[in-house]
Amino acid sequence: MLSNLTLALMLLFTALLAALTPACASPSGVGPTAPPPDEEADIFTQQRESMVIETIERRGITDERVLKAMRTVPRHLFVPEDQRDHAYGDYPLPIGYGQTISQPYIVALMTQLLELKEGDKVLEIGTGSGYQAAILAEIPGVEVYTIEIIPALAKSARERLESLGYTSIHCKEGDGYYGWPEHAPFDAIIVTAAPDHVPQPLVDQLAEGGRLVIPVGPPGSYQTLWKFVKRPGGELQAFNMGGVAFVPLTGEGVKESREHGWPLP
Ligand code: SAM
Repeated sequence: MLSNLTLALMLLFTALLAALTPACASPSGVGPTAPPPDEEADIFTQQRESMVIETIERRGITDERVLKAMRTVPRHLFVPEDQRDHAYGDYPLPIGYGQTISQPYIVALMTQLLELKEGDKVLEIGTGSGYQAAILAEIPGVEVYTIEIIPALAKSARERLESLGYTSIHCKEGDGYYGWPEHAPFDAIIVTAAPDHVPQPLVDQLAEGGRLVIPVGPPGSYQTLWKFVKRPGGELQAFNMGGVAFVPLTGEGVKESREHGWPLP
């Protein structure tokens, strides 16, 4: 009888001890060897700073507002958890559904090419992770609209942007080929997936004096990055910004309108 009571007390004591001892995994569940959250944030901040100095500035980005945005937006929170250690390398990363978050230098270059001004309305086609939209939203006085065709990406980007405090970005799920006519004209349009021609609806929705930055080329191949400026009267002035590699623009719009796109120079 006495030994049964002792056994019961021992079992109770063991159970209490187990309940009070912290599990091996850290609260974030990233594993016992991961640094604590503050230290982890510091590491990413340092990596982001190195990315800006060693890549973005070194490769010729000079717009201080763009550099500040690249220093500010936590790219590691826009990539899948198992890619976070690579978040500040200068290359695209997979974000699921066969899509990618663009290379940081290209994000900075395209943002600089948009020549944004206070009060500008900018439309992005291809929200993806939401990273480019967040960079645009960091430019003072700019209103951001963004469209994503893959429903799951549109949903996760919207939630991510909201949770990071980017509550004023207008997100929409749909085929960006057609733009967002209800909010046109736009002072700037950036396309982050490549069509094989320039979508006429985007040209139509560009304000006079507006800038369109877009990769154009055949699917599955390299493309040319174009900057177009809409002159008074509607004529487009074209600037060839060099070769790039983007995922293709998908959806019905681009397929149906192949013969009706704006002709390249
Ligand atoms: N800007 C994104 C970011 O910061 O993560 C990366 C863009 S990723 C290179 C291209 C994105 O364009 C993909 O998410 C893809 O689903 C989207 N896309 C492709 N065709 C589209 C279309 N017709 N309309 C809207 N989004 C499209």
